[in-house]
Amino acid sequence: MTTASKSIGVFISEEKIQARVSELAAQINRDYENQEIILVCVLNGSFIFCADLIRQIKVPVQIETVSLSSYEGTESTGQVSFRLDVKQSLVGKNVILVEDIVDTGLTISFLLKHMKLKNVASLKLCSLLLKRARLKVEVPVDYLGFDIEDKFVIGYGLDFDGRYRELPYIGVYGE
Ligand code: 5GP
Repeated sequence: MTTASKSIGVFISEEKIQARVSELAAQINRDYENQEIILVCVLNGSFIFCADLIRQIKVPVQIETVSLSSYEGTESTGQVSFRLDVKQSLVGKNVILVEDIVDTGLTISFLLKHMKLKNVASLKLCSLLLKRARLKVEVPVDYLGFDIEDKFVIGYGLDFDGRYRELPYIGVYGE
């Protein structure tokens, strides 16, 4: 493991992330050829991932944001609540939820259930990271960046109590 700025080691390098984001965008471009999509960016953690992804989307695309709360420090509270919902109607739209990380899966399951109630034409999930071993509920991740071990990661949008989001790579907090 190499040492980088702020003494946070590199777990997934900037180059690896960018290469994977390009692959995910290419997959989405193929799957939605001649269709329009709405990317729903799950704030705050996925804002950088979403910004990189959308710039490689070639089909007509719009962006919406949602904000949920379920984490304090490094532990999920298991209690998910809405801070901000989408602003436009999603009826009949092809929606892709863009998440930074699926850990227990409780947050995204809550959101998937909520989005299904909006009578969308299709609903898919794109997550940069998944901690498969930590899942408490089954979550269908249609577009996945990296399957990672059970470590608390930061950088590339992911924070620890509001910090480290600006790192261009993903590191492990405390390592
Ligand atoms: P879940 O409900 O799947 O347990 O948690 C999902 C949310 O918890 C993510 O959207 C993210 O905000 C936060 N989270 C889960 N694991 C990590 C992690 O390793 N690092 C950071 N920074 N946030 C995490």
